[in-house]
Amino acid sequence: MQISEQELQSAVDFIKEHDDFLIVSHVQPDGDAVSSTLAVGWLLSCLGKKYAMVNEGPIPRRMSYLWHADKIVDLSKESLPHTYKHVICVDCADFKRVGTTREYFDGDALLLNIDHHPTNDGYGSVNLIVPDAAATAEILFDVLECAGVELDKDAATAIYTGILTDTGGFRYSNTSPKVMSIASRLLEYGVDGPWLSEQLLEQMTYPQLRILTKALNKLECTEDGKISWVSITDEDLAEAGAIHEDLEGIVNYPRNISGVEVGMLFKVINGNAVKVSMRSAGKVNVAAVAQSFGGGGHVRAAGARLEGTLSEVVAAVVERVKQEL
Ligand code: AMP
Ligand code: MN
Ligand code: MN
Repeated sequence: MQISEQELQSAVDFIKEHDDFLIVSHVQPDGDAVSSTLAVGWLLSCLGKKYAMVNEGPIPRRMSYLWHADKIVDLSKESLPHTYKHVICVDCADFKRVGTTREYFDGDALLLNIDHHPTNDGYGSVNLIVPDAAATAEILFDVLECAGVELDKDAATAIYTGILTDTGGFRYSNTSPKVMSIASRLLEYGVDGPWLSEQLLEQMTYPQLRILTKALNKLECTEDGKISWVSITDEDLAEAGAIHEDLEGIVNYPRNISGVEVGMLFKVINGNAVKVSMRSAGKVNVAAVAQSFGGGGHVRAAGARLEGTLSEVVAAVVERVKQEL
């Protein structure tokens, strides 16, 4: 499915017709969320618009090389001087994923919702939702083109970063011909593909390896070997000297075991809730499973936050995945 020209134009019109925007992405931002925030900021700079970029928490350190990454306000450390009438949400599968940034939306704020999650319910005043896009950054490539701005290396690097991370380094099933053709055009702007792959997908820190070791020591699976999972508590993170961003990629280990259909990572949040990350080998639609617990995502990669203890949540989610097999 192609992006609808009309939807693309409506998104560009929203940006061109207004001024003074708040740009937000989802809590615990990944490469696509950060890159998409910056790509929109870069476009607004080109158009001479006022804007602020914000997130509920910090930007992962390994993305600090990106253009203006240090300008994304971390609401856990700073506040904003005023609220906004115009908000652009990127890579947020549903409205609650914006987290505490919503405190800065005016009650009657107009929202532009740009996203690629099929579970997105269209919470914006204007919606540009492209479920076929591998990353929200891929949609922004088209938005920038439609807006008539010429990319530079900074903007191209941001977009490449979002696509690279959401396709797992051009390996997942969302790596379409369009992804490869956009990537090729981005390289023409001087993007350093191998350096980005090294920085984002290969390099690990000692805390990352220590938390991975702890997770693998707790690897579990169902009797038939089709569902496998690991779990992490705040004590594990503290003992490993790790922070939340160091968990990125761990869910792939249970998922990569041959014969496993669904791999999961359970992360305890404040003792009374658990975040589950789910990855499917293809048979199970984990977006549907996540949605049944109030979360969302993609067919092969999804997540949700559930109330309850770790053992309660693991039991409920494993049971639900079993029904899908
Ligand atoms: P994660 O497991 O956090 O890497 O997320 C996998 C995919 O599911 C990403 O595209 C997320 O944006 C999405 N996702 C994760 N958690 C949630 C949630 N609580 N609600 C909706 N979508 C989610
Ligand atoms: Mn994301
Ligand atoms: Mn994404």
